[in-house]
Amino acid sequence: MKKLRLILGDQLNSKHSWLQECDDNTIYVLAEMRQETDYVKHHIQKVVAFFVSMRNLYTAIKENGHQAVYFQITDIENPQDLEKIIAICIEKYNIEKFEYQLPDEYRLDQQLKMICSNLKIESEAFDSEHFYTTRHELSDFFEGKKLLLMENFYRNMRKKHHVLMDGSTPLGNQWNFDADNRKKYKGEVPVPSEKNFHTNVSEVVAQIVEAGIVTFGNIDPDNFSWPSSREQSLEVLDYFCKNLLNHFGDYEDAMHTDEKFLFHSRLSFAMNSKMLSPKEVIETVISFYHANEMDITISQVEGFVRQILGWREYIRGIYWKEMPTYAQMNVLDNTNKLPDFFWTGKTKMNCMSHAINQSLDKAYAHHIQRLMVIGNFTLLTQIHPDEVDAWYLGVYIDAIEWVEMPNTRGMSQYADGGIIATKPYVSSGSYINKMSNNCAKCHYNVKEKFGEKACPFNTLYWNFLDEKKEYFKGKQRMGIMLNLLKKINPEELYKIKVKANEIISNMDSY
Ligand code: FAD
Ligand code: SF4
Repeated sequence: MKKLRLILGDQLNSKHSWLQECDDNTIYVLAEMRQETDYVKHHIQKVVAFFVSMRNLYTAIKENGHQAVYFQITDIENPQDLEKIIAICIEKYNIEKFEYQLPDEYRLDQQLKMICSNLKIESEAFDSEHFYTTRHELSDFFEGKKLLLMENFYRNMRKKHHVLMDGSTPLGNQWNFDADNRKKYKGEVPVPSEKNFHTNVSEVVAQIVEAGIVTFGNIDPDNFSWPSSREQSLEVLDYFCKNLLNHFGDYEDAMHTDEKFLFHSRLSFAMNSKMLSPKEVIETVISFYHANEMDITISQVEGFVRQILGWREYIRGIYWKEMPTYAQMNVLDNTNKLPDFFWTGKTKMNCMSHAINQSLDKAYAHHIQRLMVIGNFTLLTQIHPDEVDAWYLGVYIDAIEWVEMPNTRGMSQYADGGIIATKPYVSSGSYINKMSNNCAKCHYNVKEKFGEKACPFNTLYWNFLDEKKEYFKGKQRMGIMLNLLKKINPEELYKIKVKANEIISNMDSY
């Protein structure tokens, strides 16, 4: 039977069982499509990373003897639409059965179901063989529970997959080393520069321009740094183990104006495109740890494993549990628009300037920059979560909706009413001051709440709590914050609110 097998741009898993045996009756199809480049405006590096990695997988599978077809974005016969591409291939190659791997995005899942229901030939969906969990495993785990606590899910994953366990005891006798992982980075140990492949991607960039795709952000086409093949992805993993793992946990939450990546792994694109599996990343890191226990402490390794075995799988489970209604949630009724400086990087707030310019230059910001600087600002200024979601989905190299949306709309913007975060991740400037060196060189004064040079995060923080106090009233974890709000004298609060309104109405002047 002649089969057509679809490989989507984020299904670049060369270890998938599909690809382990060659069969002349099976044709693989990969396609660069406007339907995927245009659903949101993307960072140029993100589009390049996907196209180059897809092309590399295509070359590798052809070299391994498989039959495969590829549609480049500028090919004249490329209809730029998934349904039409499948139809063209079915007709051209006399296909009798269509097969695909379960997509991770709700949008594509719906589209593929619809396409299959219209086909006149047989079709079948397969597992992508990537995650530890199935789509609905988290829903089953939390069945009947009100609170979907990540910690409970994570401990269960550790036990179930026997990761960092000594029998039924967690290695190091602790499940969680979070308290050790909150150091400010003061240059105590040098940060190794990031692993850069210096790939020349000018041809792909020219094709993206020629196709008329509207992108944003910056790129150096002679020095593309992200991994775009399985081999390069494995090099990033190896580099992480040898150079960064020994301080990963310590500085996980730190920010520094001279260090864009600190000790973070930069593995999210390699994993989200499925060039690497989470299991092989975790197993490699743990074996490296066991071979180097003199130099690496358990808290570094546990901190890393928690992100992948815990957070990454948890976020995926929440997405499938809550979609499609999740995409519309906005419990705080936020309606403001993103300021222009999200696209230009022009702001006097030093923390925001560093986080946004870095995002525009590198298509990357690490977790705390995404959560406690940029996301903190958009929540405090009460931006509509649709706007925030679209920006995060476009800007980051690793942004695919299943992982971007619960992190942004849920964890960071609290638009889901606390499904993920038990309280909103908002803070005044003092948190940013505690975890970074941004404030020392800022135009604003982190100690002031109103007045000309007051740190906008301070003003906006108290204003946010005051504006949303009715919503948060009675929510247990908000008690301390709301009590502190009550202690501010009314005259001072009035000045704070006047100033906050001025900031919100003129965000681009700050
Ligand atoms: P490291 O710090 O080295 O962590 C290792 C790995 O852990 C990451 O590669 C990632 O796979 C995983 N991980 C860590 N935290 C999370 C998390 N909260 N959710 C899922 N996986 C996690 N991650 C994405 O992959 N895509 C996104 O679009 C995305 N959007 C985010 C938006 C916001 C507002 C926030 C707060 C976080 C977002 N994250 C997203 C999670 C996290 O910030 C990134 O995974 C991480 O910064 C990627 O860099 P890294 O590979 O160097 O990570
Ligand atoms: Fe950011 Fe405020 Fe610190 Fe400036 S003073 S860097 S705006 S937190």
